[in-house]
Amino acid sequence: MSVSVRADVLAVLSRLGVDESAFSASGLPARSPVTGEVVATLREDGPAEVEAAIARSVEAFAAWRKIPAPRRGEFVRLIGEELRAHKADLGLLVTLEAGKIVSEGLGEVQEMIDICDYAVGLSRQLFGLTIATERPDHRMMETWHPLGPCGVITAFNFPVAVWSWNAALAFVCGDPVIWKPSEKTPLTALAVQAVVARAAAKFGGVPAGLSQVLIGGRGVGEALVDDHRVPLISATGSTAMGRQVGPRVAARFGRSILELGGNNAAIVAPSADLDIALRGIAFAAMGTAGQRCTTLRRLIVHESVYDTLVPRLKRVYESVRVGDPREAGVLVGPLIDEGALEGMERALAEARAMGGSVTGGGRRDVGGPDACYVAPALVEMPSHAGPVLRETFAPILYVVRYRTIEEAIALNNAVGAGLSSSLFTLDMREAERFVSDEGSDCGIANVNIGPSGAEIGGAFGGEKETGGGREAGSDAWKAYMRRATNTINFGTTLPLAQGVSFDIGA
Ligand code: NAD
Repeated sequence: MSVSVRADVLAVLSRLGVDESAFSASGLPARSPVTGEVVATLREDGPAEVEAAIARSVEAFAAWRKIPAPRRGEFVRLIGEELRAHKADLGLLVTLEAGKIVSEGLGEVQEMIDICDYAVGLSRQLFGLTIATERPDHRMMETWHPLGPCGVITAFNFPVAVWSWNAALAFVCGDPVIWKPSEKTPLTALAVQAVVARAAAKFGGVPAGLSQVLIGGRGVGEALVDDHRVPLISATGSTAMGRQVGPRVAARFGRSILELGGNNAAIVAPSADLDIALRGIAFAAMGTAGQRCTTLRRLIVHESVYDTLVPRLKRVYESVRVGDPREAGVLVGPLIDEGALEGMERALAEARAMGGSVTGGGRRDVGGPDACYVAPALVEMPSHAGPVLRETFAPILYVVRYRTIEEAIALNNAVGAGLSSSLFTLDMREAERFVSDEGSDCGIANVNIGPSGAEIGGAFGGEKETGGGREAGSDAWKAYMRRATNTINFGTTLPLAQGVSFDIGA
């Protein structure tokens, strides 16, 4: 039976402070994957609005960079407070617009709160080095300065957290943000903007263009990508998108942070604690209905434990509850749209044609005719080839066997993407090898946990076709700032570096 969620969406939007002025009779349809229905139609931003937003952002930059960083941190602290106060509603909106189960919707908002906390501390750091100089009576140091307007382009599957990873850092670093959310999740972006507006009102004196949202599709993103007044483009989405965005930003000597697709593996070694492995695999492969960049897509199992682990895993796949993501006990919500379902069906057909044996994977009659619910699929493959080598953004887990750890690591690394990876083992030699120079080639390499569910304290991102970008913790903040090396002569002579002599006789 299909139940409309439109009234729920409008009620939560209103509680979050988004009024109906954002809606219009024609424009971008905002859908809920819970039922597949259009819940609102939004005004789309065109070239004139993009131009105005960039001009406002440039103006905001001139003012915001003068505010001391710890004071900028206070603004981010207030955003974090607002997020705490509205966590339940914003989490619910993530559920309604992106289809995540309630606990994952709330977890996404918690991640926003965590990065705000992190950025507040960072606002009292942003430190450079003092470096030894070869010249007497000189000092050499590194200083970090605000960079300028940051264009943040985000994907549908983390509709709010990815903005916060970027924006919390950008704001404390002294940069304004122009956000182009996914055209599939514009409502959560408007809600976040309302949250930020309340924090700005409490702070007082936030420049008007510091935090902006542009609603629209690829064209709006492209306008940001090509504009030299936007020195940094942080783009999260498919590798196909990154292939377009990366060269275009580079062509104007802009800076980009690319957070692209993943094709993440887990290796289960002979010594693995299979109970832990089972839980880690289930969450990483089926969580968010397989729609995380870090979703586990390839399971590489040692032949000695294959016949113990895989039947247990099959039972989990057969019993997992698929359904309305708001219902207690449901672990797998809907796919985002029909396109995702078609992609999954194509990949499964290809796998079957190659001799793959599929458990699960069928469409489920939940949410009405416009909703796309599927049972997650476990696919035992005769070889590591075909659809196994690419990311299909749906809950498909391919399983292959291995004999030696060298072979397993080679398989882990034998795909284009390089985002996340994990190894389940109790053998410390294997564990250390996996995270060593000769181990996983991914930006994330875990031991005895699955590849998904990162914390914000570490730098997040991946290598190869995942784009090389890093966001969130560690020193990711440096991408949002301009670095200067300053050498200061406090002496009475002018010695040149490298012993160069340049005597002008004066
Ligand atoms: P997508 O590539 O279809 O869209 C992402 C965003 O890019 C959207 O806002 C879209 O409008 C915009 N866009 C597309 N083409 C563009 C162009 N040429 N110029 C400027 N903007 C453009 O991705 P999606 O379907 O929303 O998200 C799923 C993909 O995102 C998966 O591949 C997933 O792995 C990836 N992802 C990666 C990370 C990460 O951190 N590595 C995080 C989340 C999602």
